[in-house]
Amino acid sequence: MVYTLTMESIKHLIILGPPGSGKGTQAKMIQDKFSFVYFGTGDLMRQEAEKGSEIGRKFQAIWDKGQGELIPDELVDEFVNFKLREIDAQKSIIFDGYPRTVDQAENLSRVLNITPDNLYVLNIEVPKDLLVERMQTRKVCQKCGQVFFRPDEKGIKACDDCGDALLKRQEDQPETMEKRILVYQTQTQPLIEYYKSHATLINIDGSPSINLVEAEIEEKLSGVF
Ligand code: AMP
Repeated sequence: MVYTLTMESIKHLIILGPPGSGKGTQAKMIQDKFSFVYFGTGDLMRQEAEKGSEIGRKFQAIWDKGQGELIPDELVDEFVNFKLREIDAQKSIIFDGYPRTVDQAENLSRVLNITPDNLYVLNIEVPKDLLVERMQTRKVCQKCGQVFFRPDEKGIKACDDCGDALLKRQEDQPETMEKRILVYQTQTQPLIEYYKSHATLINIDGSPSINLVEAEIEEKLSGVF
């Protein structure tokens, strides 16, 4: 069985943005406010790797070779097409982390059987200097997963919510961060040009605070979703 669009009125949203743009945080806010089904490939792939399934082991083997590399399109598409079958075809989906290449975008349009009129792309733009600065202060609670932006000199090492230790993620280390930004610029950024003619593209300035960006997104999506 292939996931097919059953109602013409169903619209889907893709959120694009470089690492450190606040894309994941905003995607979860949008999911709650607009009642989307959240489809985050990074989360889904990590779950699969933890389960130790055949495809999960393939993801892990690629990650073990070096942080920041994308999983090859064929493998991701196979996984995404399979996971989409678990979703109610009457629901609007927010895609976070997929597509990341033009080939993946073409796969998604095929499998959703969607027209450009029903597809929206939110593109969060943040200058590179600010991305690097943000990632230097990002820390994640190792227990509950809350994200904080805490400069080291403030010396706060515990989570406000559960009190557990805050850690810097390997992917936020400066060398990995540079690599992830480069991968985004070369492989994912071309999607912005592609979606100018394959969807409704909405650009958002992601430089202000999380709350201000959230308010702008809410305003732009109200009336559409
Ligand atoms: P994320 O949590 O979205 O940053 O994803 C973590 C890692 O999963 C990425 O660095 C990639 O290796 C892999 N990944 C997630 N989504 C995709 C995708 N659409 N295409 C290729 N690799 C992906």
